[in-house]
Amino acid sequence: MVDLVIGSGPAGVAAATALLARGRQVLMLDGGRELEPKRAAARDRMAARDPRLWAAEERADWQAPQFRAAGGQIRRYGSDFAMEPAQETYAGGSDRFRLRGSHAVGGLSNLWGAAVLPYAAADMAGWPITEADLAPHYRAVADFVPISGRADDLASVFPALDLAGSTPLTPSPQAERLLTMVAGARGRLARAGITIGQARQAVAPGCRQCGQCLHGCPWQLIWSARQYLPTLQADPNFSYRPGVRVVAFEEEADEISLRLESGETVRGERAFLGAGVLESARILLASMPGLGQLTLRDSAHGFLPMLHLWRAPRRPDRGPFHTLPQAFAELRAPEVSGHLIHAQIYSWNEFFEADLLSRYGRLPGTGPALRALARRLLVAQIFLHSDLSARVSLTLARDGRLAAETEERAETGRAFDAAARRFAGAFRALGLAPLSAARRLNPPGSSFHAGATLPMAATPAAGQSDRLGRPCGLSRLHLIDASCLPAIPATTITLPVMANAHRIGSAAPL
Ligand SMILES: Cc1cc2nc3c(=O)[nH]c(=O)nc-3n(C[C@H](O)[C@H](O)[C@H](O)COP(=O)(O)OP(=O)(O)OC[C@H]3O[C@@H](n4cnc5c(N)ncnc54)[C@H](O)[C@@H]3O)c2cc1C
Ligand code: SF4
Repeated sequence: MVDLVIGSGPAGVAAATALLARGRQVLMLDGGRELEPKRAAARDRMAARDPRLWAAEERADWQAPQFRAAGGQIRRYGSDFAMEPAQETYAGGSDRFRLRGSHAVGGLSNLWGAAVLPYAAADMAGWPITEADLAPHYRAVADFVPISGRADDLASVFPALDLAGSTPLTPSPQAERLLTMVAGARGRLARAGITIGQARQAVAPGCRQCGQCLHGCPWQLIWSARQYLPTLQADPNFSYRPGVRVVAFEEEADEISLRLESGETVRGERAFLGAGVLESARILLASMPGLGQLTLRDSAHGFLPMLHLWRAPRRPDRGPFHTLPQAFAELRAPEVSGHLIHAQIYSWNEFFEADLLSRYGRLPGTGPALRALARRLLVAQIFLHSDLSARVSLTLARDGRLAAETEERAETGRAFDAAARRFAGAFRALGLAPLSAARRLNPPGSSFHAGATLPMAATPAAGQSDRLGRPCGLSRLHLIDASCLPAIPATTITLPVMANAHRIGSAAPL
């Protein structure tokens, strides 16, 4: 009998890869939304030419849809295909919660930032799985997800990610200078509890440094699960049904059945639920009425802008460069958090200028000064562990959507301020002048790192799942997305989710 994988996002393809490697028959179902042909043609036209030959208007046209998007809506390739608007998911609005679902082929990986790290061993303390349990699965995932990066100081914090043979993306001019400053200040950074290294990204070799990463890579070098799907389809044991929505499941003695929105029932031996944490919660609440309510945990994030006091080797806003995160900074500060605090440092991108102009550009004549300021700006995106972040209560609304109620916590703001102060103090050694008064904690859900709705536990009780992601009381339904993580560490989420999904696919009983 067949194994059913719900979702073709990073979690779904990782679990399917592991199941196929065991010779299992796999049927994958997903929402099936694709980039519209007109937008795909625009992407291909961009990719057909050397970026140095693109006219300024072509770049502006490519970027315009993102600038026109409603707050919180992320567009890539000028399309909304990969991110559902709030009203699709939430009945009665999403409160202040910014997390969105996806019904796309490849899910949210069509528009992610591609920053990748494994979880640090210390952040998994008390979990029913260890860093060593995930290590072989990081390696298995790295066989099909290209990872750019280099072995630097961060390797000691994240030994589970082997970067031998990886090629780093070429840092932007500002990042190049920043990383040189980091090398000269290692001792001071270490005394401040901070380790900094070049960012690791899921980007294939051959980056053209065209600077369009935040609008959609014309060459599709930023990895997405959608691009990997044909590799799975080449396996005769794999079949795929796009364009379906699972609404509920039911376990029976020797099979599990999925109810689709169309009314059809699909049966299999086991089901691996990777519909993204919101859709997975909806399916769980609809299938297990006894749950009543689920608590989703968020990883808070905010911005710390900084001016660099040194000169970059060349103008930062003129290519070539990429606009993904340039560096990662990891802070250990037990008085602020019992877990790592993670920061991603971005150098110049067109959003800096747009943000400054929209906030401070109303006075006539300020434009040139603000543009010059934007060229001196670096921004650290600071992430906190879920223990210090908001929680969101999810229940099933009458119409089958989710009702979300966010519980914000005073300690989030306090911890963010304290973390920003610690980073700001240490970053001065790098020739940076932090603009601490302009730091900004963003609304819950805007990190897009959330989950732990049915956390894995060694001896699961109601509201928890076992080491194989099976909610307490079930034996054939495995959660494979971030829903089953025991907590949400501050570092990047997707690589550990994929490794865990691959682990569950490798170990689920036959
Ligand atoms: C703007 C943005 C930037 C991000 N940047 C980063 C980053 O830099 N690093 C990082 O680690 N993470 C990042 N993330 C988070 C990352 O995208 C997610 O962690 C990841 O995509 C989750 O994978 P998933 O497979 O669990 O779910 P998803 O990617 O959400 O995929 C869900 C899948 O389930 C299918 N599906 C949904 N509902 C149903 C249903 N009812 N029936 C059948 N199929 C269904 C969908 O079609 C889709 O195939 C970012 C997210 C966003 C939005
Ligand atoms: S800079 Fe970004 S968008 Fe351009 S080729 Fe490189 S990864 Fe793709």
